[in-house]
Amino acid sequence: MYAWQVGQPGPDVERALSRVEMETPRPAAGELLVAVDACGVCRTDLHVASGELPVHRASVVPGHDVVGHVTEVGDGVSDFRPGDRVGVAWLRETDGTCRFCGRGRENLCPASRYTGWDADGGYAEFTTVRSDFAYALPDGYSDEELAPLLCAGIIGYRALRLADLPPGGRLGIYGFGASAHLTAQVAIAQGAEVHVLTRSARAQRLALDLGAASARDASP
Ligand SMILES: [Zn+2]
Ligand SMILES: [Zn+2]
Repeated sequence: MYAWQVGQPGPDVERALSRVEMETPRPAAGELLVAVDACGVCRTDLHVASGELPVHRASVVPGHDVVGHVTEVGDGVSDFRPGDRVGVAWLRETDGTCRFCGRGRENLCPASRYTGWDADGGYAEFTTVRSDFAYALPDGYSDEELAPLLCAGIIGYRALRLADLPPGGRLGIYGFGASAHLTAQVAIAQGAEVHVLTRSARAQRLALDLGAASARDASP
């Protein structure tokens, strides 16, 4: 298969990435082999390519906003079948046993591993994912629409749930980047009144276009 690898990390990320032909991965027990249909570009991918994140796996294939379909399942997989549409996200796996995992805060797990950093990700024709960390994706949305939800969307949605907003409540959002502009849409669709504080005039306009009740400069 073809893939993009981070050869030598460096500030010029276009030079850091090289297109290579490599062995198509095999799904281990409990894993899915996924044919990649679309993969988003996240700032974290750029950090991996530029070396701002230390190398965890030499010549890693970045990409952790993966939309694809299952082509093969490893031993013991019963929750997905070939043909299923799935998403692969940044959090690749955790130990499932530590005090954070036990409290549903597996993002804090000290044994956590990450797609496109500790293991090859979605800038490739195929990638693998543990079936219990794969997301079943619905029909009715394009691959390109779904891909950003698998990183920016998950981050914001988790924050929104932790905010425990009552129905029709008021939500304040500081900063209005990839994650916030998705979260604001979810909150507004759920009936929240959303107020945005951000320095960028363009982001303020976007917030209002998306239905925010107010959007102002974040500077004191
Ligand atoms: Zn990301
Ligand atoms: Zn853990």
